[in-house]
Amino acid sequence: MAAVSIKAVHKHFGTTPVIRGVDIEIADGEFAVLVGPSGCGKSTLLRMIAGLEEIGEGEIVIGGKVVNNMQPKERDIAMVFQNYALYPHMKVRDNMAFSMLLAKRPKEEIEARVQKAADILGLGELLDRYPRQLSGGQRQRVAMGRCIVRDPQVFLFDEPLSNLDAKLRVAMRTELKELHQRLKTTSIYVTHDQIEAMTMADQIVVMRDGIVEQRGRPLDLYDHPANLFVAGFIGSPA
Ligand code: ADP
Ligand code: MG
Repeated sequence: MAAVSIKAVHKHFGTTPVIRGVDIEIADGEFAVLVGPSGCGKSTLLRMIAGLEEIGEGEIVIGGKVVNNMQPKERDIAMVFQNYALYPHMKVRDNMAFSMLLAKRPKEEIEARVQKAADILGLGELLDRYPRQLSGGQRQRVAMGRCIVRDPQVFLFDEPLSNLDAKLRVAMRTELKELHQRLKTTSIYVTHDQIEAMTMADQIVVMRDGIVEQRGRPLDLYDHPANLFVAGFIGSPA
């Protein structure tokens, strides 16, 4: 059974169709990358999976449950945004603990989970700092830590590295990939960067203008692009 199924999903904003019949299956433990030009509907699709945007038509299934009518917090997901969305007035440890405080988890459990996530991400020394006292890469790690502590079934990433400089972006890409190899959490990663997609994905989903042009393993798309758009976008010789 797929960890995430997106079935015949459509979405309009006003009268403008933005998602026009999307079907995607993501296997348990897979790292799927949604890639496509700016404005093609990647964030909208991710936000529907997260429950931040109503699903127009069709069905989204996470872990065997149809989530169309479930609130974001009822879905077993955690999302990392482009701008990290850390709380500036909270220390790193409280930023990481916040969702569990809301869920009224026992204090000892929260501390243990924050510590474990901090160890995994190398944030142990930084737990008592505020976000403004961190570098871009460290903030990115804290945003990731917030997701890890919740141990969700699915991680959602919306261009999490796009605010970092080029060198750090490459380093964080490797770090995220290693993290995925360690945790094996099913992940859906949105980017408009072809290189990020090719190097990180188990499955690439190439989107254009609200539809999926092709999806599959990076090398299969590279070797057998379905059309010129995919070939051009992935960078395979036409
Ligand atoms: P991407 O993430 O691929 O860049 P988006 O999903 O953000 O694309 O946007 C897809 C299209 O939907 C764009 O044309 C965008 O302008 C439009 N759009 C996104 N959000 C809204 C909204 N809340 N209201 C109206 N139009 C929107
Ligand atoms: Mg976007």
